Amino acid sequence: STPAAIAAGLAAGARRGLLIKGGAVLEVLRTINAVALDKTGTLTEGRPKVTDLLAFEGDQAGLIARAAALESGSTHPLANAILAEAGARGLKVPAVREAGALGGEGVSGMVDGAALFLGSPRAAGARATLTEAQMAAIVALNEAGKTVAVLLADGRVQGLLALRDEPRPDARAGLDALRAAGIRTVMLTGDNERTARAIGADLGIEVRAGLMPADKQRIVGEMQRDGLKVAKVGDGINDAPALAAANVGIAMGGGTDVALETADAAVLHGRVGDVAAMIGLSRATMRNIH
Ligand code: ADP
Ligand code: MG
Repeated sequence: STPAAIAAGLAAGARRGLLIKGGAVLEVLRTINAVALDKTGTLTEGRPKVTDLLAFEGDQAGLIARAAALESGSTHPLANAILAEAGARGLKVPAVREAGALGGEGVSGMVDGAALFLGSPRAAGARATLTEAQMAAIVALNEAGKTVAVLLADGRVQGLLALRDEPRPDARAGLDALRAAGIRTVMLTGDNERTARAIGADLGIEVRAGLMPADKQRIVGEMQRDGLKVAKVGDGINDAPALAAANVGIAMGGGTDVALETADAAVLHGRVGDVAAMIGLSRATMRNIH
């Protein structure tokens, strides 16, 4: 019977780490013809490493220690990398007060009496003036596929931290599998255009970069108005609204609790190819019913 076939489909998915929250989601999955994926932590490993440190005021240790202080309450992949770097250097991380996250932009807080901000060059540029030389350094790092975080103290540029996050090993093949199934793929990222294009070129995917969380939600809506049935795949860090707006929101393995709650489905093993497998499963299950 129909409920039995749906239950069997859901169970078959669960055995492969494809968590689908009910038969209604399975129905919608079958109609998906576009998949929008986040970059950081979804198409990439989400384990960036600090590769370069440029200190303009103070030394490298002070740069990392203050950045780590701001990131101490954050679950963003960049935060983990910066905290790991501080740990590896055996640095004492100062206390932070009034710590806050600015979704898609960075983090802020008070450290040693100074108002600090750490975040994207664009967000930093809206809060301070970067010199031509600083901007040229950022461009060069971005063209090497690196994400740059700028540290400000009381509106003065303290330094740059560059981080590199490699694509997941199966990302290219997973995207190819989606496209082979007739599904359009697009990367949505808050990261800057140059870094995103460097990664996107490796993966052969259409890129929409420099997006705020609300932009991602808007683009999902635009795709839907163009007649597409959109699955949004992400780790939910900064991006829960877009996950919720999609026809199907899919949390990527190891995502946040927020993502798991907001999402309609999850790929627990963190393989991009599992998104294609999940859609394939829904098509096969529903084919047996209709
Ligand atoms: P993505 O879309 O690739 O997942 P996000 O929307 O999570 O990117 O973040 C967008 C950009 O905002 C990052 O590339 C980074 O420059 C900045 N940013 C966001 N959160 C943080 C943070 N905790 N620390 C430093 N930078 C951050
Ligand atoms: Mg993100």
